[in-house]
Amino acid sequence: EAALLEDLKGKESITVDGTKVKVYANIGGPEDVEAVLENDAEGVGLFRSEFVYLNTKGNPPTEEEQFNAYKDVLEALAPRQVVIRTCDIGADKQVDYMNLDHEDNPALGFRAIRICLTRKDFFKTQLRALLRASAYGNLAIMFPMIISVRELVSARELLEECRKELEQEGIPTGPMEVGIMIETPAAVMIADELAEHCDFFSIGTNDLTQYTLAIDRQNDKLDPFLDTHHPAVLKEIEATVEAGHRHGIWVGICGELGADRDLTEQFLRIGVDELSVNPKATLPLRKVVRGLDLSLPEKVEEENFR
Ligand code: PEP
Ligand code: MG
Repeated sequence: EAALLEDLKGKESITVDGTKVKVYANIGGPEDVEAVLENDAEGVGLFRSEFVYLNTKGNPPTEEEQFNAYKDVLEALAPRQVVIRTCDIGADKQVDYMNLDHEDNPALGFRAIRICLTRKDFFKTQLRALLRASAYGNLAIMFPMIISVRELVSARELLEECRKELEQEGIPTGPMEVGIMIETPAAVMIADELAEHCDFFSIGTNDLTQYTLAIDRQNDKLDPFLDTHHPAVLKEIEATVEAGHRHGIWVGICGELGADRDLTEQFLRIGVDELSVNPKATLPLRKVVRGLDLSLPEKVEEENFR
């Protein structure tokens, strides 16, 4: 088994009929770079930048600390693409120095882009670090928990503000794609409008499932009620891919469901462009992809999507 996977290193993630999919890895910081290379992931589809925030005690990481963390990852993985998600703290990821109020419903509360758009200086520190790092590799960034065009436009305006500041300071920046996570039913419903303002979508199935099924992702007691292949979520994925493609942008999945090999064929048939999974899951996923022939009639039940 291990030897068979070893064989897949350096090979393309392509089906028998020639459909390509990008198999990327999810990471939490520079310490995971080795696993990305070892498992021959084609890029990073989700760098959860909040781990950089959870690792500093007392204060948020400085621009310099963040710049170094992002640059290290980009340089080590170049020319591979690295998608860094902007800070997604709040809800299940609390840090003391943010002095966030206690909330009865933190998953529905002050988290992620909501914090960043409220505490603009805090957000700009990260955006500046990302822009500076973009000169050192193939960077893309994405914003979490987006529910409206207005939020996306505001975030992009802050990004441009930071870019101009850096230009004036004579600090180099590189080009980068800007995307969003699709992890709320609201984002799915307005995906066509959102797609006009960004370069890609990455579907966060962990939160999308939680918010669609109204099942707290942290509460094990609800497991008997959790259908991870719930048709509502699968239809949302399909609708998101269709909306993205209508507007010429690529669409990936970076939540746990992307690694579910029982769904790989369906994901490829609906046109998912990228699957970002735990580094250890990349080669097993490539193996499944290379065994698929989408020119044959579908083996699995399509009824999940109806
Ligand atoms: C998700 O919600 O699916 C996701 C990838 O983000 P996180 O698990 O970090 O919330
Ligand atoms: Mg999420």
